[in-house]
Amino acid sequence: MTPKYIFFTGGVVSSVGKGVTAAALGLLLKERGFKVAVQKLDPYINVDPGTMSPYQHGEVYVLDDGAETDLDLGHYERFIDIRLRRVSNFTAGQVYAEIIQKERHGDYLGGTIQVIPHITNEIKRRIALVAKETGAEIVLVEIGGTVGDIESQPFMEALRQMRNEVGRENTFFIHVTWLPHIGATGEIKTKPTQHSVAALRSIGIAPNMIIARCDYPIEDGICDKIALFCDVEKQAVVPMVTSDVLYEIPLLVEAAGVADYVVQSLNLKATQTPDWKPWKKLVKEVRAAKPTVKVALVGKYVELHDAYMSVREALKHAALAQGVEVEIGWVHSTDLERNKGWEILQNTDAIIVPGGFGSRGIEGKVMAARYAREKKVPYLGLCLGMQVMCIEFARNVLGHEDANSSEFDRGTEAPVIDLMLEQRAITDMGGTMRLGLYPCLLQKGTKAAAAYAVPNVDERHRHRFEFNNNFKAEFEKAGMVFSGMSPDGKLVEIAEIADHPYMVGSQFHPEFLSRPMRPHPLFLGLIKAAKERNKKENN
Ligand code: GLN
Repeated sequence: MTPKYIFFTGGVVSSVGKGVTAAALGLLLKERGFKVAVQKLDPYINVDPGTMSPYQHGEVYVLDDGAETDLDLGHYERFIDIRLRRVSNFTAGQVYAEIIQKERHGDYLGGTIQVIPHITNEIKRRIALVAKETGAEIVLVEIGGTVGDIESQPFMEALRQMRNEVGRENTFFIHVTWLPHIGATGEIKTKPTQHSVAALRSIGIAPNMIIARCDYPIEDGICDKIALFCDVEKQAVVPMVTSDVLYEIPLLVEAAGVADYVVQSLNLKATQTPDWKPWKKLVKEVRAAKPTVKVALVGKYVELHDAYMSVREALKHAALAQGVEVEIGWVHSTDLERNKGWEILQNTDAIIVPGGFGSRGIEGKVMAARYAREKKVPYLGLCLGMQVMCIEFARNVLGHEDANSSEFDRGTEAPVIDLMLEQRAITDMGGTMRLGLYPCLLQKGTKAAAAYAVPNVDERHRHRFEFNNNFKAEFEKAGMVFSGMSPDGKLVEIAEIADHPYMVGSQFHPEFLSRPMRPHPLFLGLIKAAKERNKKENN
């Protein structure tokens, strides 16, 4: 059976929720009994976002198979509750790299390599791969950026070709645009949407549906106008006003009739009626008044909250399950080094140190870990956050003043965090870390084991450095417990401090596996401990 394709393009501006909309529609279709898959196409030239600064790109989201992907894949996994694989994200860089490699290999027998057909064929091949690998009946494909971007042209052209090749009855184009609101007159304007649809039509793609995003209520007349000028059925112009609750989006997209319209247009038949009770309950709980717990997030990219997208979501999931509101205090780790930002740590119920690379801000993170240990503030360290927890312990408990990770100080006398043996010969930076799902055995009687309540787990990794086992016995003697180890006992996966309410660090990234309805155990543990501390402090 030919799979059905739903393509999402963006108009006017980016960052208006195209990814979330695609994720929500994916859930709506899954709830109707369809087997869905999702794919994000990123038109930039980098091979993957793994080597890009979080300032540029936001968080790098890691999949089970170790693919380093766009953060929209996090939305897909969290909303649809699926596990995606590498095939679900590719960039122009990957497409060009593949074609150039073939050309060097002599595969083109002297032919001239061109955007059409070589690049577009490779794009189409990669899109078709999703249904082949997953067996999905419906593939939702989101194209990054906005129509008119120079990089996205080959992608748009590939989609246009696909519409003809797989048949119009098997494709559906959703154009997500933005309606600006003019403050002076209080008007909502459709002109930019008209222009972006015109640009789309000029490359031969007529959208089947327009989802018009806006921060203000959209009157029916505006939708009439969009339908008329953009040549889309009135029913297929969907006003979508910004919601304060992220997880309400599926309910809003459902109420707007998007899924029914799409299913009908693609000649599909739902085999199941969606059950929105759990989502309605979730949204109600999000909106309900609750006590607040404060979590200080000490990072180096804190100006851009998207850099910690999954961490923030995981905190929200855990807080919701614990009946509290989480208020994140964003702390720049370099501020702590300059004696700033400490009031946030002093007034917090918990501290979280997320992942990161490079030496900037490390000392501030070590200070935060020390503060958490000494003042017994609940602490969760994610990857780098576990590493700084160990560095701090080595310096201030074991007396190795010079302790460090060899990532930050090659000459340190106490490299408590060191390069893994297999990493030593690697010179390429892209895609060469310890990436993806690895097993971890939990030690009975520890906080980690209590949090998970199962004997072993698989978690997603993205790091080059590891705890150095030469120091293990010394750490253990002084009260550090290695509560999670790789099955061969060689790699530390989780470290915790025995004499502390909750000071846990994981070498992996638990935030990637947290789901709105299934919060991650380590985050739940943190929020529980934060609640207890909050209660004590306020009594
Ligand atoms: N920079 C550290 C390493 O490579 C930690 C990485 C991370 O936090 N994801 O091991």
